[in-house]
Amino acid sequence: MHADTCHRRRGVWARSLGNVRILDSAVRWPVHPQPLPDELLSSWMVRTAHAHGFKTESFYAHWLGRDVPLWNRDIDRHCSDELIAQIAKMSGIPLAKIAPLSLQSIDGQTYENCTQGAFCPWLLPLGIRHRLRLKGGMQFCPQCLAEDDQPYLRKTWRLAWATTCTKHGCVLLDRCPQCHTFLQAHRVDMKNKGFLEKGLSNAKCCECALDLRMTSSSLKANDAVMDLQRMFERAHHQGHVSFAGVEDMHSLAFFAGIRVIAAGLLKTIETKAVLGAGIGIEQLDLQDRYVLMENLAPLLQAWPSNFMRLVDSVKNPYSHFTKDANVIPHWLATELTVIRRDKVLLPPEEVRFIQNMVEAETGSYTAKKALKIYGRDVGSKTARPIVDNDDVEALIAWLDQSISVSSDEQRRDLLRDKVLFLTARIGKLSAAATASLTLDLHKYSIDAEDDAPWETPGSREALQRWMPWYTHQVRSAYRAADSEWLFLCRAAEGKMSDSLISARFTSALRSAGLERRIHGFGHWTS
Ligand SMILES: [Zn+2]
Ligand SMILES: [Zn+2]
Repeated sequence: MHADTCHRRRGVWARSLGNVRILDSAVRWPVHPQPLPDELLSSWMVRTAHAHGFKTESFYAHWLGRDVPLWNRDIDRHCSDELIAQIAKMSGIPLAKIAPLSLQSIDGQTYENCTQGAFCPWLLPLGIRHRLRLKGGMQFCPQCLAEDDQPYLRKTWRLAWATTCTKHGCVLLDRCPQCHTFLQAHRVDMKNKGFLEKGLSNAKCCECALDLRMTSSSLKANDAVMDLQRMFERAHHQGHVSFAGVEDMHSLAFFAGIRVIAAGLLKTIETKAVLGAGIGIEQLDLQDRYVLMENLAPLLQAWPSNFMRLVDSVKNPYSHFTKDANVIPHWLATELTVIRRDKVLLPPEEVRFIQNMVEAETGSYTAKKALKIYGRDVGSKTARPIVDNDDVEALIAWLDQSISVSSDEQRRDLLRDKVLFLTARIGKLSAAATASLTLDLHKYSIDAEDDAPWETPGSREALQRWMPWYTHQVRSAYRAADSEWLFLCRAAEGKMSDSLISARFTSALRSAGLERRIHGFGHWTS
């Protein structure tokens, strides 16, 4: 078909619906390359254009219009239903076969919804700038491409847990081994300005034209990593997995937990990357993800004993794993609660009951008597267990989580609470004493470090390092910033009352689910 005939036909039949033109059903592309198993939309679109003897960009600009954004975005992730329907119609291939090419078709398997947010959990970003790809989000297996009749790109290769080819036993590649350009099949026909060259395919480097099927650069993959990936593949394709004693765990819950474990694990191994709030495993490059998978494999293999060993080896395990997590699925939360439960075998009210009974029966309480009468080692003579570092970290982790999802005055109050609670605890101050702290006890120069400090302070010295940031970034925004009090409330006079401090603390405990571990401000600071 010649371009000018196409043009005339489009002129007659095309009508406009927003950006997408709907064509009469009589307009069909003459060649119909069938979608292949697990194929990506972009891969099939390149094959289809080339099958017609056209360059990819001009073929689609011609049929869909130049104003439809295709190659300057991640078209596999952001293809509207209208566009998919139109492409299906023009290609003469049923919609039921075209729709599964998009990454939206696997929503609810590894990730929930790939169109939401700037970054989709587990989906590798392409680093799109104009029509270029600046990140290695399009991975591939050279041997798979070599075995294909028509080389094509797989949806699975876009997922962050995929680092190997479980069929060929090799580590995937994400760039041309010769010139290190990322795979960009839509650009493979751009080198020659005129006609479409022969022999182009999804398997060619768009920069140096190396046939990626010929490369022997892929490394042999570690068996444990491949076993792990096979488990991920099963969970992804079946939508459920048997893991952690749960017979039918939903794949989304499974992958959400793996994400939390991976972020905590990454802090303990040598890679150049650090995952933080909002930055996930999909931001790592292939090499780092592969190293991460090597370390992750043994953890999941003997669940939960190997994970518990890792948990034991980190300083503040609860916050180590949960600090940056948006979602902690129940199966993982269960393991993480065990970390805290180990410290106290009995709930405090149980301890108090035993102590009271021992006292009533024998006239005085000792741990030895309690053990003899009740068979439980209640230990301490105090009516409640000490608030330990894990409790502190758990409360701070909850505060950080609340801070991250709040804004304006609410956020400021929470930041103040965080500093206030820690100040009171480290100084062993009552609510009234904390409310009466004045700013002149804490004078700091303006050029002091203004970034939010990271590690939770455990000493007066460490707390001092937080104060410049607190006074400049948090306290200064209160109405009463000119007053003398260190901790301010929103009221004009600024001074916090001890009852406000206690109330805020109690409400934080309740929201964090810690009221059984910490019994109030007095317990926290004793
Ligand atoms: Zn392969
Ligand atoms: Zn190249």
